[in-house]
Amino acid sequence: MDGDLGYALGRKFVDETFGAEGKARTLKMVQQIEQALNSDIHSLSWMTPATRQQALAKLQAVANKIGYPDKWRDYSALKIVRGDAVGNDERATEFERRRRLDQIGKAVDRSDWRMTPPTVNAGYSPLENSINFPAGILQPPLYDNRMDAAVNFGAGGSAIGHELTHGFDDEGRKFDSQGNLTDWWTQEDAQEFEKRVDCFVQEYSSFTPVDNVHLNGKLTLGENTADNGGLRLAFMALMQSLEGHTQPKIDGFTPEQRFFLAYGQTWCENMRPEEARLRAQTDPHSPGRFRVNGVLQNMPEFQQAFSCQVGQPMVRIPPCRVW
Ligand SMILES: [Zn+2]
Repeated sequence: MDGDLGYALGRKFVDETFGAEGKARTLKMVQQIEQALNSDIHSLSWMTPATRQQALAKLQAVANKIGYPDKWRDYSALKIVRGDAVGNDERATEFERRRRLDQIGKAVDRSDWRMTPPTVNAGYSPLENSINFPAGILQPPLYDNRMDAAVNFGAGGSAIGHELTHGFDDEGRKFDSQGNLTDWWTQEDAQEFEKRVDCFVQEYSSFTPVDNVHLNGKLTLGENTADNGGLRLAFMALMQSLEGHTQPKIDGFTPEQRFFLAYGQTWCENMRPEEARLRAQTDPHSPGRFRVNGVLQNMPEFQQAFSCQVGQPMVRIPPCRVW
């Protein structure tokens, strides 16, 4: 669906499938993951107090845009006619162009949404210091009311953690809590950060998605950093939420195992070798297989959940870790 029409027609979809209840439960999960990052920043042994304080301030200021905007745009002036797809598209484009032109000379509206509510995507904006989860992405398989917490944290939770970690990856770390391009790192901490992300560069550059074509560890660094941080944060949040409750196995798997299985299933995909070759050289995201295995081999929690031994392929020594 066209972006402008998606916004205009999205309200019905959101009311019917998501609503205030969906927004509330997602916000709760987001807050649990932000709490996990708070604990994580506090526990990092390589970070000095000055940078830690700045990182916490940035986390504190993250704006959470969940499901749909607090204030819906008024689309009453846009005429939608059944059976007139081209006309609808033209009128929606014109409507959107006028809306944007109207913003000239006015203060930036930080509550404005760039993504439409039905969009199946998520994002972090360094200029706003905001994470964005439209209602469209918060549906099965990423979030399912009928599933247990382990599955929802492994799928949707890891996506939330991924976007949040973008605020602290090689690009995001250059912006402060208000979205200004400011260097808030001590030289010492910046060097530690660089050393740690270099581990990811080496790791992902060693992966070959097709024939002898290697991934570009530098091109994919921000996404790989976000994948690794995101899954760890989601796992921490799940453990926190399960604390004190005994969890039975479901379908023969422990909550930890179900968490990792759900994460793996979100990246199931298939593509032709030609496409894999093209993407290896142009896409800042690693292919699904490495978004899963590249992260899991860095996680002792995964190795413990599935009893992996040193020397086996899913145990990387030493593991790479930034956040
Ligand atoms: Zn990303």
